[in-house]
Amino acid sequence: MKTVWFVVPCYNEMEVLPETAKQLKQIMADLVQKGKIGSDSRIAFVNDGSKDATWNMISQLHMEDPVYVGINLAHNRGHQNALFAGLMTAKEYADAAISLDADLQDDVAAIEQFIDKFNEGKDIVYGVRSTRATDTFFKRGTAHAFYKLMHFMGADTLKDHADYRLMSKRALEALSEYEEVNLFLRGIVPMIGFETDIVYYERHERFAGESKYPLKKMLAFAVEGITSFSIKPIRMITALGFFLFSISVFLLVYFFVTWMIGYTVTGWTTIVISVWGIGGLQLLALGVIGEYIGKTYLEVKHRPRYTIESLLYQEKNND
Ligand code: UDP
Ligand code: MG
Repeated sequence: MKTVWFVVPCYNEMEVLPETAKQLKQIMADLVQKGKIGSDSRIAFVNDGSKDATWNMISQLHMEDPVYVGINLAHNRGHQNALFAGLMTAKEYADAAISLDADLQDDVAAIEQFIDKFNEGKDIVYGVRSTRATDTFFKRGTAHAFYKLMHFMGADTLKDHADYRLMSKRALEALSEYEEVNLFLRGIVPMIGFETDIVYYERHERFAGESKYPLKKMLAFAVEGITSFSIKPIRMITALGFFLFSISVFLLVYFFVTWMIGYTVTGWTTIVISVWGIGGLQLLALGVIGEYIGKTYLEVKHRPRYTIESLLYQEKNND
C-alpha cells in the first residue's frame, strides 16, 4: 500500500489548525480503511515561522497522535518555500504528497480523487477550481488578469490551479533537481513532465482567520512568476528601443530642416517633451533590466531556500 503525505504550510494559522487537523485525519483514516493508502501515511504541517501559537499546536497534535508530523522552519520564508520544505521532507518518507492550504479553502473532499488518479498511475494530479464564485470580485479579476499576463509573457501555467496538487515520489525527486532560489512552483511543476491528470474542485471561503496574501504579496508573486519564467519583458524593451530610435532619426531630420529655415524657438516644446519622455522610458527600461540582474544576483548566491529547525516524526503509528 502506498504511503501518502498531506503537506500543509501554515503561517499564523492557529484559528484554523484544530479544525483542519481534525478533518484531514478523518479523511486519512477513511482512505486507509478503504485500502486506498497505507496506514503509515502522514499529515505534515510546515510551520513557516509563525508568530502565534501555531507551532505549539502542531507539537501538541504530534504528541497526541503521530499521524501528525511537524516541520518547523527556522524563520518565515513565504508560502512557496514552506511548501517546498514540506514536499522535500515528504519525498524522503512517502510515495506521494498532496499539498494543500491550511485554511480549508482547498476542498478536502477531493483528496480521494487525487489518490484514485495516483493509484491509476498518474505522477502529477492538479487540483483545478471549477468556479471562482467564492472569490471577491477583486481577487477574481486580478487572478484572471495574472493568468492572461503570464500567458502573454510566454510562461504557461495551468489556469485556476493554485498549489493544490498531488506529486509522486519520482515527480518530487525531479522537482528537487530544479535549483532556482526564486521559487514559483506552479510554473515549474508543468515542466517536469510525466503523466498528469486534473481533479476539479470547489474552492471554499477561508474557514477562519485572515488571508496571509495581501495585495502587496500578490503583486510580488506575480512579478516573481513573470520574471522567473520569461525574458519577454527584456525583448519588449529592446523592441521599444528600436522603435524610439527610428522616431528620433525622423525628428532629427525634422529639427535640422526647421533650423535651416530659421524657426529655432518653435521646436522647444518638442524637445522638452522628448527629453522627459525618453528619460522616463530609459528609467523604465533600466528598472526591468535591474529586475533581472537582481534575480541573477540572488540565484548565483545559491542560498538555501529554507532551513528546518526541527522535525517531529515518529516511525510507527500507535495502532
Ligand atoms: N502561508 C505560509 N507562509 C506565508 C504566507 C502564507 O506558509 O508567508 C500559508 C498559509 O498558512 C496558507 C497558505 O500559505 O496555508 C495560503 O495562504 P492564504 O490562505 O493566506 O492565501 P490566500 O488563500 O488568501 O491566497
Ligand atoms: Mg487561503
